[in-house]
Amino acid sequence: MANIRDQCSWVHMHEPEAATAKAKDLVRMAVAKAAHLTALPEQRLPVTPSALVIGGGLAGMTAALTIAEQGFPTTLVEQGDTLGGSALLLTADRFGGDPRKIVAELAYKVKIHPLISVRAKASVASVSGYVGNFTTTIAKKAGSEVINHGVMVIATGGKPYAPKQYLYGDSERVLTQLELEQRLASSRPLSAKIKQVVMIQCVGSRGADLAYCSRVCCGQALKNALRLKTLMPELSIFIYYRDMRAYGFLEDDYRKARELGVIFIRYTPENPPKVTPGHSKSSLLKVVGYDPLLGEEVELDTDLLVLSVGIVPEDPTILSRMLKVPVTADKFYLEAHVKLRPVDMAVDGIYVCGLAHAPKSMDETIAQAQAAAGRACQPLAKGSISPEPIVSHVDPELCIGCGACEIFCPYKAITIDKEVKPRKAMTLTASCKGCGVCAARCPTMAIDMGRFTLEGIRAQIAAFGESV
Ligand SMILES: Cc1cc2nc3c(=O)[nH]c(=O)nc-3n(C[C@H](O)[C@H](O)[C@H](O)COP(=O)(O)OP(=O)(O)OC[C@H]3O[C@@H](n4cnc5c(N)ncnc54)[C@H](O)[C@@H]3O)c2cc1C
Repeated sequence: MANIRDQCSWVHMHEPEAATAKAKDLVRMAVAKAAHLTALPEQRLPVTPSALVIGGGLAGMTAALTIAEQGFPTTLVEQGDTLGGSALLLTADRFGGDPRKIVAELAYKVKIHPLISVRAKASVASVSGYVGNFTTTIAKKAGSEVINHGVMVIATGGKPYAPKQYLYGDSERVLTQLELEQRLASSRPLSAKIKQVVMIQCVGSRGADLAYCSRVCCGQALKNALRLKTLMPELSIFIYYRDMRAYGFLEDDYRKARELGVIFIRYTPENPPKVTPGHSKSSLLKVVGYDPLLGEEVELDTDLLVLSVGIVPEDPTILSRMLKVPVTADKFYLEAHVKLRPVDMAVDGIYVCGLAHAPKSMDETIAQAQAAAGRACQPLAKGSISPEPIVSHVDPELCIGCGACEIFCPYKAITIDKEVKPRKAMTLTASCKGCGVCAARCPTMAIDMGRFTLEGIRAQIAAFGESV
């Protein structure tokens, strides 16, 4: 291919003569390379028809159940002693249902499913292999276990951000939305003496400790405000917000909250509300915030201050290094392509869902877990995979076994076979994407890529600038 469009006409559109000369060079170089092309054989590799799911929250359980229901044995590894994760901290969804019940039912289905093996209080100690043929060691208290599987799903989830601001921890009147949820589900939710509640949105989020929006906090504040209003209709509720992100059907909750008298007060990140304590730990708090819409300060005495905190991912450092998959600057697992491959990781055969990928609500988590399971079932159902034909090839005569290729390969697709002496690099063709990083790093030029051989590249260089 001589890429005249991208590498010539678009980039040199204002220099037509030079562009024509370059186009001729590109064509000549492509022809010179074509003389060295050889056919690349298509390979077929068998797939172990089973899956590993890491994390036993809503996402992991949904993914495991969906894969098992397609008929594939699935191992679910959970580091804690119970299944359920963060959803167990929620006591109501926006329709009044109890997520803890839904999670308990799901956990029961997972536990009794004949094709699902749950490994609780366990973690992944090591992973080797490639799509279709992974081997994983699971560490448990009683010892370790080695399993073979064709695909895996990362569902390691997240946890609530721990606030340090707005007197959290110093006053018994300050709590998070999750703590309010727990109280609302208890037998004596709130004292009848409580007259006024203030909520503050985006605590620690969007440029403070966390750079991002956690999506669920606005919906959770609206849900809890409506629950409070149902319980105590006379209660005054004020919500300090930066933008209410009540997307989709959450807009209905926003409207309903306004109809019921919940007052929304805007604040800017430069001028967040200030909270001052009363005389004692139990006396009323004063919340003062500048409302940019009124152009005035609003001062409120509050019985209860509720902080809407965001979601922090479970630390991915160890697992992401083990799997050689990328994470974002915020430590969420990064999908291969946001639109075209939204639940795939860059490494084939590894998929992601739930809070491990990004903050999202329970319904979004379930939908994404089903999507990840659907993708994971594709190689399992096919029974074999056909790797990319353009892969790296190591010349054992030239390889000195230095390991530079193994260190720099972004896909864990080249390895030094430690059993063979002298040490030699070996390509795992099923994982190789043909990116060429290993070939560029090899100090002895022992590696070339099908379609990008040394002879071909040298012929291209020689053809460059030759007069026609
Ligand atoms: C503060 C907060 C408020 C929320 N409010 C709402 C709301 O009002 N409405 C709503 O719809 N949703 C809400 N959500 C979102 C909802 O809880 C999630 O969408 C859902 O529970 C995510 O499930 P998950 O499985 O992805 O993650 P989690 O529930 O976090 O589960 C992950 C599981 O993986 C395990 N794990 C982690 N690392 C490993 C490892 N290396 N090996 C093995 N196991 C591991 C963990 O122990 C955990 O059990 C909220 C979430 C938070 C944190």
